[in-house]
Amino acid sequence: MSTVTTRSPAETRALGTRLAAVLEPGDVILLVGDLGAGKTELAKGIAVGLGVEEAVVSPTFTLAREYEGRLPLVHADAYRLEHGRDVADLDVQERDDAVTLIEWGNAVTGVLGIDEYLEVRLSSVGDDEREITPVPCGPSWQARIGALGL
Ligand code: ADP
Ligand code: MG
Repeated sequence: MSTVTTRSPAETRALGTRLAAVLEPGDVILLVGDLGAGKTELAKGIAVGLGVEEAVVSPTFTLAREYEGRLPLVHADAYRLEHGRDVADLDVQERDDAVTLIEWGNAVTGVLGIDEYLEVRLSSVGDDEREITPVPCGPSWQARIGALGL
């Protein structure tokens, strides 16, 4: 799997916008990485690519926010789940009509019962450098990430 290095928040957002081109209703994207890794910046870029006009903000710990775009965008944060809270706290339902983005999402794949999703791993490698690696799970995501040349 290829890793992209971005050198500014704008580059990370641009990667998200590029990714948004292949998004379909029902997609789930899990954003995985430490605090400050750029999960929310990537989410902002995805929102731009989906035509969301409202400003995307960091999700609160458990409440999902919904934005209107080419597809509805649901943006949630599972931080507390990863740190021992109950999954019932996460305000995310399966949505066949929307794109669902979950920050700190590695804790939720089991509980959401999904086997098709895109995981995006982000890590800081310098003040302004981030390594970003898409990890497709399931055949549809493998094909789409391949089509994007990522
Ligand atoms: P997270 O949601 O993973 O906690 P954020 O996206 O909220 O992270 O914050 C990332 C922070 O890092 C922002 O303050 C942003 O300006 C800064 N930053 C610096 N370089 C980059 C980069 N290449 N990509 C994304 N964010 C960057
Ligand atoms: Mg965040």
